[in-house]
Amino acid sequence: MTKNRRFILKNRPQGNPEASDFELIEEELAAPPAGGFIVRNHFASLDPAIRGWLDDVPSYLPPVALGAPVRATTVGQVYKSANPDFVEGQWVLGLNGIEEFSTVAIDGFTAPIDASLVPSVTNYLSVLGAVGMTAYFGLLDAGQPKSGETVLVTGAAGAVGSLVGQIAKLKGCRTIGVAGGADKCKRLTERYGFDAAIDYRGKDLAALITEMEAAAPHGVDIIFENVGGDILDAGLHVINEHARVVLCGLISEYNSDHVGARHLWQLIVRQAKIQGFLIRDYAPRFAEGAVEMGQWISDGKVVADEHIETGIENAYEAFMLLFSGGNNGKLILDISPAK
Ligand code: NDP
Repeated sequence: MTKNRRFILKNRPQGNPEASDFELIEEELAAPPAGGFIVRNHFASLDPAIRGWLDDVPSYLPPVALGAPVRATTVGQVYKSANPDFVEGQWVLGLNGIEEFSTVAIDGFTAPIDASLVPSVTNYLSVLGAVGMTAYFGLLDAGQPKSGETVLVTGAAGAVGSLVGQIAKLKGCRTIGVAGGADKCKRLTERYGFDAAIDYRGKDLAALITEMEAAAPHGVDIIFENVGGDILDAGLHVINEHARVVLCGLISEYNSDHVGARHLWQLIVRQAKIQGFLIRDYAPRFAEGAVEMGQWISDGKVVADEHIETGIENAYEAFMLLFSGGNNGKLILDISPAK
């Protein structure tokens, strides 16, 4: 019998997830259900959104059940199939779990991918997947950048933020990135082409506002917000009239109570707009975004970094890099290196 190692949710985390909230279990793999198939997961996308799915609160997806594998988007190959449309060996992308094998009933969330089109199948979890499309549609569709405008990106050295900054530059904008630490700030200007970088660590609201004012003497027209808290509040103080705030993520609040944006008055003063953004809305347009993004990558106009951690037994430590800032690029777990 084939064994299946699964990274399951044991307890709902209170605040920061602890290693004891999860367990690596081993089960025997059953045959695929009628009309379904089994995927051998090669790589799992470790996303900040996973943290939200661990809480028992209403959201855009149901919470991960206690005892179930932690939900993640994976790429893998069909291992056994009871469905003629999914032949063994076919590469697929789907919303599955952090586990060596996922059993897929026909749910519409798992689709074939063409591994021959990309340098690495992991690209389907990064620049050509939801992360890349979040940057692409979040900036271009929700943000509506115009040449000459100033774009402030928070979480700027991360998977989404680094792409947002580069796309904004391609559209003729001045870009300011906010990230944690001197190394990441250097990366912002030297690798991702930001015009200015702000290290948020150890700075209170007033200090952040001062740095943002210095970096954006003519104000900010678009905030691409990935972080929330004081960083968002500070950004609201430097917006121009009719600015757009794209609310993509609030990672600083995922392990704590939401503090809320406390400076919304600035939106009134500047007649600005704030918009919640969820990539799910754009699924029907992924091909459109991926074609342009793929072209930018192959023309060398955009760099997309991947940070790959290895081994399902390291899933917890790998996941927590998102909250310590230990990742440089899209965080991916290589589930079973001995494929
Ligand atoms: P990243 O690659 O950006 O990794 C997370 C980064 O967040 C860390 O490296 C760290 O960078 C930063 N961070 C973590 N904790 C804090 C904190 N307390 N304060 C400030 N910064 C912090 O992840 P992604 O690019 O995958 O995701 C970025 C954001 O985009 C997240 O908020 C995520 O939820 C959101 N998102 C939203 C989507 C949507 O459809 N709305 C889709 C995909 C992502 P540093 O070292 O700089 O602190």
